[in-house]
Amino acid sequence: MRISGVGTNRARRMAQETPQAIRGTQDIFGAEAEAFAHVVETFERVRKLYRFRRAEMPVFEKTAVFSRSLGETTDVVSKEMYSFEDRGGDSLTLRPEFTAGIARAYLTNGWQQHAPLKLATHGPLFRYERPQKGRYRQFHQIDAEVIGAAEPQADVELLAMADQLLTELGVADGVTLLLNTLGDAPSRDAWRSALVEYFQDHRASLSEDSQERLDKNPLRILDSKDPRDKPFTADAPKIDDFLSGEAQDFFGKVTQGLDAAGVEWKRAPALVRGLDYYRHTAFEFVTDRLGAQGTVLGGGRYDGLIETLGGAHTPAVGWAAGIERLAILVGGEDVDFDPTPVFAVVPDQQSMREEADRIAFHLRSTSNNKFYVWSAYRGHGKKLAEKAKRDGVDAIIFVRESDDPRKVIHVQNLKAGGDEPSSDLLEIVSYLPAPYLSASGDG
Ligand code: ATP
Ligand code: MG
Repeated sequence: MRISGVGTNRARRMAQETPQAIRGTQDIFGAEAEAFAHVVETFERVRKLYRFRRAEMPVFEKTAVFSRSLGETTDVVSKEMYSFEDRGGDSLTLRPEFTAGIARAYLTNGWQQHAPLKLATHGPLFRYERPQKGRYRQFHQIDAEVIGAAEPQADVELLAMADQLLTELGVADGVTLLLNTLGDAPSRDAWRSALVEYFQDHRASLSEDSQERLDKNPLRILDSKDPRDKPFTADAPKIDDFLSGEAQDFFGKVTQGLDAAGVEWKRAPALVRGLDYYRHTAFEFVTDRLGAQGTVLGGGRYDGLIETLGGAHTPAVGWAAGIERLAILVGGEDVDFDPTPVFAVVPDQQSMREEADRIAFHLRSTSNNKFYVWSAYRGHGKKLAEKAKRDGVDAIIFVRESDDPRKVIHVQNLKAGGDEPSSDLLEIVSYLPAPYLSASGDG
């Protein structure tokens, strides 16, 4: 019976047919995955500190949720959305941002009863963009929103929370908070007209994209990264000349609140956020350490959004930050986010395999997360110890065959030189199963 050739052909055919990942998506693993998890864990800690409530949101919504609230003319809606018809004929869209879905949920679930509602979430978002470092088609954000609060104190609290998050992540030093106000509706409209008049005079010199924005969404020209637009955006009319007294007062309260909270900020009079529904406060935390993708966190006040979804006038403010960009800032091959010591439990001989496993399970269930316990399914002795070392463990518990229980366990320190385990590492001995409690650390 000849079967050998069949197997190889089949293997080759399967290899050829292995589907590739979609462009702009990432498989996050290793040091990058640790950095990613660290960003999310730090965000979870900080949002609890500020008593923001956790929400889990659907990854897809009816397309209208985004097209109505973001505005048909934004880049996100006009070029970046992943929309499709499902089997029932409904037009659905993979969420390109969190805010619109949260606003929809606020209305459909009657969350008004919780107002002002402080919400936090995180997860994947989808935008059809040109993939590059720090810019993906599936990316991830952490997100914080306060819905049903017109007070500038809500803006201040959100900014203080963002600032604290960046500080706790250890990246605040290279990051600057740029702050602007877009004013209330009358201020914004007056500014918009002045911008249109100004840019009309330079229309022919603007980039094609900005010529189109001039007709549809002129504020966005200020946001342009095209070098052809830069000379004109610098001299464009400034919002300050159009702010109503009320809008000035609101912005003053935000900046005073930030100063009182010790949050540093810089005025950026040309900063506009990409989405149509922003009013008053708009902000970005930017860095020059990420090349072209310099915005790590952005947000602002969106008092008009919930009305565009058919709800009552509901002031709200929020921000979102790209987890990948934050992970790049905090990460690196050698960064250890968790100081908890890791112990490998290694059977010295194959005969001690089961006993080693028993000890590993015992340590995990008794040591209150003070130690992490590494174990393997096969191998023993020096060779297995080498593998544990490569996996970054701090110390090894060898399990040896002996009639004397005091001689079964030997602890070897791998970090800080020397075989002698330091006293804090040796604390693990007190969590060993009873017969081994007087184990030695002589390697
Ligand atoms: P940019 O100007 O970089 O396109 P944006 O204004 O489109 O950003 P927002 O919609 O405000 O971004 O999203 C907030 C944050 O989400 C950004 O500051 C960034 O950190 C992150 N982000 C946005 N788009 C992407 C993407 N395609 N890939 C990775 N991160 C992203
Ligand atoms: Mg964008």
